[in-house]
Amino acid sequence: MYCNQCEQTFHQTGCVKSPGVCGKDADVQSLQETLLFGLKGMSAYAHHARRLGKSDEQVSAFIEEALFSTMTNVNFDLETLLNLCLECGKMNLRVMELLDTGHIEMFGQPAPVKVKEGTQAGPGILISGHDLLDLWNLLQQVAGTNIKVYTHGEMLPAHMYAKFHQHPNLVGHYGGAWQNQKKEFAAFPGPVIMTTNCVLIPPESYQGRLYTMRSVAVPGGQRLDQDFSPVIAEALRCEPCKENIVGESTIGFHRSVLLNYAPTIIDAVKAGKISRFFVIGGCDGAEKGRNYFSDYAQNTPPDSFILTLGCGKFRIRDHDYGQHLGLPRLMDMGQCNDAYGAISVAVALAKAFNCSVNDLPLTLVISWFEQKAVAVFLTLLYLGVKGITLGPNPPAFITPKIFELLQKQFDLRLTGNDPQGDLQRALAA
Ligand code: SF4
Ligand code: SF4
Repeated sequence: MYCNQCEQTFHQTGCVKSPGVCGKDADVQSLQETLLFGLKGMSAYAHHARRLGKSDEQVSAFIEEALFSTMTNVNFDLETLLNLCLECGKMNLRVMELLDTGHIEMFGQPAPVKVKEGTQAGPGILISGHDLLDLWNLLQQVAGTNIKVYTHGEMLPAHMYAKFHQHPNLVGHYGGAWQNQKKEFAAFPGPVIMTTNCVLIPPESYQGRLYTMRSVAVPGGQRLDQDFSPVIAEALRCEPCKENIVGESTIGFHRSVLLNYAPTIIDAVKAGKISRFFVIGGCDGAEKGRNYFSDYAQNTPPDSFILTLGCGKFRIRDHDYGQHLGLPRLMDMGQCNDAYGAISVAVALAKAFNCSVNDLPLTLVISWFEQKAVAVFLTLLYLGVKGITLGPNPPAFITPKIFELLQKQFDLRLTGNDPQGDLQRALAA
């Protein structure tokens, strides 16, 4: 444990032994950190939603109360803190709902679309991160020019919304998940905009071409608010992109799209034509062990479906999963916040079958990296979802005792080195 948040901290350096000077032990600290990290992730989503004109006073009030509970000498009780973590999950569900509504109201109804991947001849701008409003503002400002705009990383799902799909300057997608940005941004000839997390400190090769938005900032990069004229000038100054289309992908299986297929899916499940649904997604990352997710996905049976979201999709999408019942077996639902969509679909199916989400033929295999994933994880726990497999590594802020508690209450599992065995066990369940 490590805590240095108050004056009486051990030797004025930090309480590193459990319990600390105040009596707070490592397990209390573990739940306080889980709560803090969940709040950070939820706040990022709430910030994106607020920029779309969506907020909820109840959420703001909860953030204040939850932060207060982590102050010195306020709460030493595991049960209350676990309840606050679950309440954070509840609030995060509301925030993801606000963001989902905001996206649809502002950018139009999502639909499956084909997206060209790679670059096309001419000046280009690459935009990454999660903030779709930044992409929209950029497109308004490049309209009428010959500049081509490409999405990168978590910006890929933008293409599914009607207004983005129709915009002539938004021409395709370039690159994969955030951890590849040093290679991919360096190879892109034009300016790059990073709107949110997950930005990396840029090497010299492209730091002069890297622009960040508002609270996102890196050494050597240039911060912007909403005026993209420096980026546009840079795009016209830089070497143009070469024609290099490397493929095409279909995205856009937003919850509203999948819910339209609900009657077909329900009939197919009843007729035994769908063995299982898998949600395989979340965050991608550079740490070892993430091939668990690709091995798992590639071995799923041909009569199952995989729903994916977040940048974890980049780990599993370079494989042909084929089709089943006229639908692609791998369906990309969107950004990590579109976990709201996966939850809505699961809840709708549970309602149709008159059972709980835990009784559905559904397995969640979630890759996590940062605090947005913690917020989504707490939402799943708040909903009582059991048997989630989490990886590739257990959260360092969860102590063995708290992990045992989560295992007991939620049947939480960790990825290991036997994805095929884990898959067979899921299918046999
Ligand atoms: S809050 Fe408690 S554990 Fe943290 S620094 Fe103060 S005395 Fe130490
Ligand atoms: S899914 Fe997670 S790791 Fe990936 S870009 Fe979004 S926040 Fe970052």
